[in-house]
Amino acid sequence: MTSPRTRERMVQRLRNGGIRNRAVLEAMRRTPRHLFVDEALASRAYEDSALPIGQGQTISQPYVVARMTEALFQAGPLDTVLEVGTGSGYQTAILAQLVRRVYSVERIDVLLKQARRRFSELQLRNIRLHHSDGGMGLPQYAPFDGILVTAAPLGIPKALLQQLEIGGRLVLPIGPRDEQALVRVIRTHGGYEREILERVSFVPLLGGVR
Ligand code: SAH
Repeated sequence: MTSPRTRERMVQRLRNGGIRNRAVLEAMRRTPRHLFVDEALASRAYEDSALPIGQGQTISQPYVVARMTEALFQAGPLDTVLEVGTGSGYQTAILAQLVRRVYSVERIDVLLKQARRRFSELQLRNIRLHHSDGGMGLPQYAPFDGILVTAAPLGIPKALLQQLEIGGRLVLPIGPRDEQALVRVIRTHGGYEREILERVSFVPLLGGVR
């Protein structure tokens, strides 16, 4: 149930669901999602559903990971990406295979430590993890070509807009639990362009660390 064949079926479902970006599909084919969930859930790792990862958090559904990553890359390759909400580290691992460097921020230390172990097992060496409130971004490493947020704020955090490179893209869910939209913001010379992609359901972006 955790075999490459099961993963191949997951990729086929993503294709059927409209995911077209080859590099994204390839990264998802290569990445053992079952290593990012508790052993007891490993047999369900390739279903298209979110799963609990402890601390009241969830690993995002494969389709949503694919869709967000594709939305981030639509206009071409990116060099540095900031992810807010490391969680299990699955989305981080996908990004790490597509860009030169990923910075990822998580507010819950226990999750961050587990993710760190997974990255070292998988020999993903271009990920920099930070234990902090991602709503503030990571000003010391800004600007970023892409920013991807995997927990939902009620509005777009200003700090994240400010830390976007000109031409850079921010993909994030916005809104309260049952009425969230996935939004993409592109920074232009003159300002920001915003487009709504689809309805989604994420855990809330919370302040503070623990
Ligand atoms: N990309 C993750 C999604 C995990 S759920 C995965 O696929 O596993 C969202 C994560 O965002 C949770 O781990 C939660 O703790 C984290 N989070 C919520 N608010 C945050 C904040 N302000 N700063 C950093 N991380 C935050």
